[in-house]
Parts: sequence; structure tokens; C-alpha cells
Amino acid sequence: MSPGINRQWLFASRPVGMVSTANFKLHEAPLPEVKDGQVLVRSLYLSMDPAMRAWMWERETYIAPLQVGEVMRGSAVAQVIESKKPGYAPGDFVVGVFGWQEYAASSGGGPLPMVKIPPGVPLAATLGVLGITGLTAYFGLLDLGEPQAGQTVVVSGAAGAVGSIAGQIAKLKGCRVIGIAGGPEKCRWCVEQGQFDACIDYKHENVRARLKELCPDRINVYFDNVGGEILEAAMDRLALKARVVICGAISRYNAEAGPIGPRNYMNLLVSRARMEGFVVFDYADQFPQALAEMAGWIAEGKLRYEEDIVEGFENAPAALLRLFEGKNLGKQIVKIADPQ
Ligand code: NAP
Repeated sequence: MSPGINRQWLFASRPVGMVSTANFKLHEAPLPEVKDGQVLVRSLYLSMDPAMRAWMWERETYIAPLQVGEVMRGSAVAQVIESKKPGYAPGDFVVGVFGWQEYAASSGGGPLPMVKIPPGVPLAATLGVLGITGLTAYFGLLDLGEPQAGQTVVVSGAAGAVGSIAGQIAKLKGCRVIGIAGGPEKCRWCVEQGQFDACIDYKHENVRARLKELCPDRINVYFDNVGGEILEAAMDRLALKARVVICGAISRYNAEAGPIGPRNYMNLLVSRARMEGFVVFDYADQFPQALAEMAGWIAEGKLRYEEDIVEGFENAPAALLRLFEGKNLGKQIVKIADPQ
């Protein structure tokens, strides 16, 4: 890294279909000026999130669409270099929406305000299990899924960042947990590390047939990260009063047309079931308690997590693509610098 230069990844063009590295452009800018009320931070780790692909759509989602030419939006762990913001000092570690760039001047506001990382907390984990990822699993499962001990919970994207945590929280609540993930290595992780009761390899097994075998009492909670055909397969096996939690739909993010379906949505009526989506930001006032509870589970060895770390700022676009290629196990992160 040259001093005085801020390397940035710009969102260069709206993808058509599958996002590619060509949709981003590496740019060199001068270091940003720090205004009163701001900190200058140097980023250490970037978070890679499937939602980034949805932010590239022209249409609005729960957040404004990205505009071509702007610095790619994203969360990062960073270290404060200079502070004109009360309460922050050089050397502090923070997590916030700093974008895909090596340095950022930030007041720390926005839908996900900047947070100081307490000493002793592993830095990268604040983008994963002890950050938005873990919180998404926690609130989606517990608040919308309402899992009861003895019930059957099915989680798709089960070896991913959110899914791997959602399934383990369901186990902690005494549920029988079935994961759905792509490939034997991911399924092995869910059963051996995540303590799931079973995991269906959707790339090599018939999901409908396996759900029938593995869920003899049907599905009480379906935590969906992927949408599409896997959602439909799960919805064909709902128990009475089931809860379908719409966390995400990664199988649709690169699709040009919106999903038609689920074609079997009438199963909600038959099962007197509920299907509900959520955005994790809405739980912001409850984040501290949830993080404390999850940190406790980790310390007690009851909650395990994986971080899939790609080295090098220049590899950020390729790291994002890994999510859509199913290459990541656990939270996809890009490491761009060591703390000073
Ligand atoms: P992740 O699961 O760690 O990574 C994405 C995984 O999705 C891939 O590893 C891949 O695993 C799977 N995948 C990719 N393409 C697929 C396809 N066509 N069909 C089925 N599976 C596919 O990502 P994450 O960060 O934990 O996010 C998981 C979901 O949570 C996403 O849908 C995301 O948008 C959502 N989310 C929602 C909120 C909220 O507030 N609602 C917040 C954060 C994240 P396989 O190898 O198993 O296919």
C-alpha cells in the first residue's frame, strides 16, 4: 500500500445475470479529509454478503440501490487512524459500513451505525458470528421461527455464515435440525461441527425425498436462505402451524426476472402456516443482549463458526463471487491489512 493513496473498488456496471469481476473497477483516490465529528479509519477486514448482489439491482430493496461509479458498499472491521469524533481515539477497532476501500472518513451513522469493538473480541468475528451474520440467524430463527424443543427445524444454506449459526441455535433450543447444503464437505461440517441431526446434499440428493425420510413429523420451522426450488420442496412438507422464515433467496439474486412462486404457496393455507420475511437492522436495539448471549455460547463451546478468509484487497470482487459459486464454508471475509 502506498502512503497517501486510498485504493477503492468502484461499482462499475450493473450486472446482467451472474455478477462478475468485470462489474468492479479498481481506483486510486487520495486519502479522505477528516471533518469534525468523523474518524479516519484504515480497513482490515471486509465482509462479503450475498445481499450485495441485490443492492446492484436497479430497483430499490430495503436499502437504496447502488449507483454506478460509487465505492462498493460493504461492512468492514477497521482501525481508527485519526479522530475528530468524541469517544474515539487512534488505535480503536471499529466495525461499520466503510465500503470497499482501504481508508474511509466516517461519522459512523447510517442504518448500521459504527460500533467500537471491545478488547478481547476476535476482530473478524464481528463481521460474522458476532456481527450482522450471527444476529440475522439469532433473530430470524428465534423471533420469527419460534422454535420449540422437540420440533423439526430445516435450514437451507446450512454451511453458510447465517445458516450454520441458525441451525446450531435451533439445536441449543432442543430441536431436531436438518440442514440443506451443497456438497459432502459442507454436509459433513453441519453434522460433525454444527451438531445438526442430518444434512441433505442438494447437489447430489433428491431434496423432496430426503425431507420425507428425515422429517417424518414434517417441518415446524423452515429457515430459508436460498429460495427457489429448495423453498418449494420444504413447503411441500410443512407441519400444522409451521413457520417459514424468509431470511434470503440467494438462488434468485442473479436472476433477471423476479421469482414466480413459490408455486405451492397454498400449502400455507392447508398447514395453517405462516411465512414471514425480516431485515436484521430492525432488531438493532436488541443487538447487545443477543451478542452477549452468543458470545457466551461460543465461550462454552456450544456454538462453532467458520471464517473463510481470502487475502488481499485486490481479491474482493473474486471473493464476492465465491458466495454465488458455493465455494465458501462459513463467513466469507477478505483480509486487507494487519492492525498496527
Ligand atoms: P452464505 O450462506 O455464507 O453464502 C452463500 C451460500 O449460498 C453459498 O456458499 C452457497 O452454499 C449458497 N448458494 C449460492 N447459490 C445458491 C443457489 N443457486 N442455490 C442454493 N444455494 C446457493 O451467505 P450468508 O451471508 O450466510 O447469507 C445467507 C442468506 O442470508 C442470504 O440469502 C442473505 O441474503 C441472507 N441474509 C439476510 C439478512 C436479513 O436481514 N434478512 C441478513 C444477512 C443475510 P451451497 O454450497 O450450500 O450452495
